[in-house]
Amino acid sequence: MKTIRFPDGTTVPALGQGTWMMAEDDGRRSQEIASLREGLSLGLTLIDTAEMYADGESERLVGEAIAGARDDVFLVSKAYPQNASRDRLPRACEASLERLGTDRLDLYLLHWRGNVPLADTVEAMERLVAAGKILRWGVSNLDIADMEELIASGGDSCQTDQILYNLTRRGPEYDLIPWLARRRMPIMAYSPVEQGRLVSHPGLAELAAKRNATPTQLALAWLLSREGVIPIPKAGSVDHVRENRAALDVDLSDADLKQLDSLFAPPRTSEPLAML
Ligand code: NAP
Repeated sequence: MKTIRFPDGTTVPALGQGTWMMAEDDGRRSQEIASLREGLSLGLTLIDTAEMYADGESERLVGEAIAGARDDVFLVSKAYPQNASRDRLPRACEASLERLGTDRLDLYLLHWRGNVPLADTVEAMERLVAAGKILRWGVSNLDIADMEELIASGGDSCQTDQILYNLTRRGPEYDLIPWLARRRMPIMAYSPVEQGRLVSHPGLAELAAKRNATPTQLALAWLLSREGVIPIPKAGSVDHVRENRAALDVDLSDADLKQLDSLFAPPRTSEPLAML
């Protein structure tokens, strides 16, 4: 499977699994756990969650899904901005670890920027690394100005920026992704199928039919064809997970890529970073 390297040299599978909106409905719980486990068995071992999702219940669900397989998983969680201080981050992290049923996170992210100074967050993250509670850390939803401030605040061991990036959200290609690439930081592409909206895009469906693929697979294959991008689709059924996994086997030709550029125009100028 294609892998992506973080600046510290750690490699992860290029395609991960998201968990936002999981654990919202008890009736879907066992199906969601089965989906994550199916993903693990297919090699999608990076799982992304957050203390915010379903008020911590998503982390509990992930904990249940990975029980007995913790060492095979690259586990990512995120802290609320208001918890990202020296005082509060250790407690937020401990609570996430407890819900996930583990003693460490592989990657801990600041979910978005709030009022806590970035230098404070950097120090809090580095202390968690020193304590062995997290193995590495990163950020989410930070634009170039934020990233520059982060680095100037001692944050040069940041491993990634998790951002909204998909065929309909190509703004970061213009400047943020190249900025990160110069520092060897991959991005984690959230909402890679635009929260399901790309599934029914007519132009994408037409191209997908010609390629004997599905629109979701084309949307993921396009992200996977780019350097340093880890898409983390959320799939709530085993069938969707299998379909998404198969996107790794879709090779896009130059003609396909041109067609996608004409359906979803690349940015011509710098755009503010969008977030969901
Ligand atoms: P997404 O992955 O783009 O889309 C999820 C939706 O697509 C679900 O409704 C899912 O339906 C559907 N879907 C997935 N695979 C499909 C398939 N093969 N065929 C048809 N439909 C399919 O959106 P997302 O959940 O917003 O983003 C992914 C992950 O990124 C999140 O779960 C979360 O972990 C992370 N995220 C992070 C941030 C941040 O601020 N850092 C923000 C948003 C998301 P089913 O459930 O029925 O499969």
